[in-house]
Amino acid sequence: MYSHQLLYRTHNCGELCKKDIGKEVVLSGWIQKLRNLGSLTFIDIRDYFGITQLIFSKKRKKNTESELGKEFIIKVRGKVVERVSKNYKIPTGEIEVLVSQIEVLNSSISTPFLIEDQTDGDEKSRMKYRYLDIRRNPIKNNLKLRHNISLEIRNFLSQNGFLEIETPVLINHTPEGARSFVVPSRIHSGKFYSLPQSPQLFKQLLMIGGIDKYFQIVKCFRDEDARSDRQIEFTQIDCEMGFVCVSDVLIFFENFIKHIFQKIKNIQLETFTRITYSDAIRMYGTDKPDLRFGMKFVELNDLVRKKEIEFFQKQELTMGITVPKCSYYTCNQINLMIEWMKKQPKIGIEDIFWLKYFPDKTLLSPMSKFMKNEDIITFVKHFKANPGDLLFIFYGKKTRNQLRQLRLVEMAHRLNLKKTKEFKPLWVTDFPLLEWNEEIQRYKPFHHPFTNPKEEDLPFLEKYPENIRSQSYDLIINGVEIGGGSIRIHNKNIQNLILKHLGLSKQEIQSKFGFFIKAFEYGVPPHGGIAFGLDRLIAILEGKENIKEFIAFPKNNSGKDIMINAPSFLEMKK
Ligand code: ASP
Repeated sequence: MYSHQLLYRTHNCGELCKKDIGKEVVLSGWIQKLRNLGSLTFIDIRDYFGITQLIFSKKRKKNTESELGKEFIIKVRGKVVERVSKNYKIPTGEIEVLVSQIEVLNSSISTPFLIEDQTDGDEKSRMKYRYLDIRRNPIKNNLKLRHNISLEIRNFLSQNGFLEIETPVLINHTPEGARSFVVPSRIHSGKFYSLPQSPQLFKQLLMIGGIDKYFQIVKCFRDEDARSDRQIEFTQIDCEMGFVCVSDVLIFFENFIKHIFQKIKNIQLETFTRITYSDAIRMYGTDKPDLRFGMKFVELNDLVRKKEIEFFQKQELTMGITVPKCSYYTCNQINLMIEWMKKQPKIGIEDIFWLKYFPDKTLLSPMSKFMKNEDIITFVKHFKANPGDLLFIFYGKKTRNQLRQLRLVEMAHRLNLKKTKEFKPLWVTDFPLLEWNEEIQRYKPFHHPFTNPKEEDLPFLEKYPENIRSQSYDLIINGVEIGGGSIRIHNKNIQNLILKHLGLSKQEIQSKFGFFIKAFEYGVPPHGGIAFGLDRLIAILEGKENIKEFIAFPKNNSGKDIMINAPSFLEMKK
């Protein structure tokens, strides 16, 4: 113990226990609670470490206690005594400190919301007075968790040969698909820096520089609309490795994520599922499927055609999903759900039929009015349903994307299938390299322009760029994108061709990426990497959606910091 600490405290407010009874101690902290029982006063004193109960005996003459209030900072001297009515819920609950001296170190006006685990503060006032919010356990513990996760990440990556290297923040626009924030240059009047959307080009240049494995826990900036899972400034765990192919990256980072879950939550994740982008869209209508619940789409078009089920044959698209173990739902419950779904303009389904496949293998469905029993049995077989499942068959002109709404938003939600303690990680691979953007009448990269096409698709890159798949991958956990990356292009001609497909002229390529293309002339190693969203990763570990809870000073959903009132107008110099 350093002697200078003794001025304010001999112990912290979370550590005294039965073995300390009889000790003379000094504690400092905030007043959490005050109870004045006439002759006796109890105060709960709180600091970062915990809470200790103080007791002021009747014999004390000074009456400082009557001038105290919540959140005052006090320093007390006293003796540790055994508590009469013990509180076994907190570590200090068996003792209290019988105070002999008290000094008020600072006072406090009354706080805009309760500094308690369950607060009455709304998000706005909690953001405005974030320093008060941080005094509350839930936020403080989230910050501790964030620290522990970052530490674990640093240790794991360092132990595996990754070097943490800082890359610059005042750079030029990096094409990650969002708008950049710009910073005017004072010295170079009229010129601007951009803040990095990611350190993409720098980490690739590090590979060209012969660094074998790089990482950085780094702030990135994207001028996009904020949401509960997106902030305009956010933190990435940015990684890059030399001489790797897709499976090297996936295997290493699967272990990395497993390690974090194991260390932080003591959760053993199962082997990550892998699925290609096109299969994800076909089976789930999204490239971020939530695998906590099955409910894959089952296409029925071919079947109804083959079986000549006249009613469905007329429909453009007939599809179905299985809801496991829900055949016990009452017709009334199901009908209410169907009515609700049919009313949703976005889903726009014409009709939905249900089919209950009871545990005793009997069937019940309104389709029996127009379908033979044997055809209904074929449906059940086609669905690979188990006894006890509930099936839905729907038809209309709608796309898979709309059906995704049905699967994800409505069914999963209503049937309570999104378990917060369950984790289903998934690699989605082979995204398209480019997509056509109607608005700008140009191709845009699906990931970013430095992503390598799949080897077998390369011969078609020149003529059919829209059909090319890329060596890219996203990590999805419970329907949330946690990370994404790719194997990069290391061939100058391919890089040039892709930039050309993106509509960049030779001059533009030269002015924007000249330095990068130049580096390609000096021997670029094959390399690839990934970046994970740290804020999202922490939120998912805690089963939460709102990443603000895990950021010390977050911005609100319109990108404002309402505590410091940023952004703000600049003062004009006279
Ligand atoms: N730079 C990419 C991103 O921010 C990640 C990567 O490709 O490594 O999404």
